[in-house]
This record gives sequence, C-alpha cells and structure tokens, in this order.
Amino acid sequence: MDNNPKLCKLCGKKLRKFRISNEYHNRVYHKKCFEEICNDVKNYHLVAFTKYGHEKRYHGKTKDEIIEDPNPLVVTFD
Ligand SMILES: [Zn+2]
Repeated sequence: MDNNPKLCKLCGKKLRKFRISNEYHNRVYHKKCFEEICNDVKNYHLVAFTKYGHEKRYHGKTKDEIIEDPNPLVVTFD
C-alpha cells in the first residue's frame, strides 16, 4: 500500500493508481472530477453565480451597492 497517497485537487479523495498506464505521478484529478471542471468552464456563465459564489455586478457594483448608492445611475426615456 501507498503510505502517502495523492489526493484529488477537486474532491480531496484519494487518487487510485492505474494498472495499465503509469502516469500516477502526473495525476492531479480524478477523470470524473476533471470532466466536471471542463463542464463548469464550458457553462461558466451559468454556474459562476450559483456554484462559485460570484456576485453579479452592474458597472462594477453589486446590486446592494447600487441600492445603497445615494446617487444611483438614473436612466430616462423621452
Ligand atoms: Zn476527485
């Protein structure tokens, strides 16, 4: 047994050694975890605010900052 197993950088669980290919020392993620990262990158516009905790900004300000702003941006229509 490996006394010092490598851990997946995404889920933190132990990476298993492959029997066929000997690339364990290069591995950083599980295959499934890496695919999840790829999917998140592909759908970043969807998951950024829910999964990664980013906050929507309008002209560099969060919604709360705009609400609290004493001089908010006013758009008028003629
Ligand atoms: Zn993993």
